[in-house]
Amino acid sequence: LYGCPTTVNNVESIAVVPTILRRGAEWFAGFGRENNKGTKLYQISGHVERPCVVEEEMGIPFRELIERHCGGIRGGWDNLLAVIPGGSSVPLVPAAEIMDAPMDFDGLKAVGSGLGTAAVIVMDKSTDIVRAISRISYFYKHESCGQCTPCREGTGWMWRVMERMRTGEAALSEIDTLLQVTKQVEGHSICALGDAAAWPIQGLIKHFRPEMERRINERAGNDVLTPMQEAAE
Ligand code: SF4
Repeated sequence: LYGCPTTVNNVESIAVVPTILRRGAEWFAGFGRENNKGTKLYQISGHVERPCVVEEEMGIPFRELIERHCGGIRGGWDNLLAVIPGGSSVPLVPAAEIMDAPMDFDGLKAVGSGLGTAAVIVMDKSTDIVRAISRISYFYKHESCGQCTPCREGTGWMWRVMERMRTGEAALSEIDTLLQVTKQVEGHSICALGDAAAWPIQGLIKHFRPEMERRINERAGNDVLTPMQEAAE
């Protein structure tokens, strides 16, 4: 950087090096599962009794992580709605699927999400899930540097549509249009911010489409159930 030799690395990785040197690589690799070894700093926020940052073994099941370090879910486990397990850029995981998921790369990939930064955002049933994801869309729209078209135009477009999804002003057909646009942004930008803007919306549509449809129908005064709503009944 600025013409000088530079190491750019993750502080978390560098901070653990002295302990690995003291105790040995085998000791460190004794934590976690195959391909998911070592420890991880989990930053747990949202609707838990005691939000915290904690270093734990990779692959610890979600429920154990929360019970051991956060005093459980606010209002109990039945009150859990969904979790964003790896920072705002990864798709959310509904309660039933995250409960026993191993909190590591492969465990979260298996439930359609990712470990990412291990910034775990816990949402209970008081959460307006469409509003939460719309707020995340606003963040990525704000952060886009504007260098490439899919991200520059897509993040703003996705946020505006998400806001209409939040209020129910959108049309039912726009849910699929929104999904298609996320697929056009994903993988078509210079840096990872384009993907990061697309994935939370994809997770919302995958798991909470009936809630999006309910709002649109309610706003339109339309009490006809969509096929997805009927299936969810
Ligand atoms: S994807 Fe990255 S480089 Fe492209 S506009 Fe978005 S923030 Fe800028």
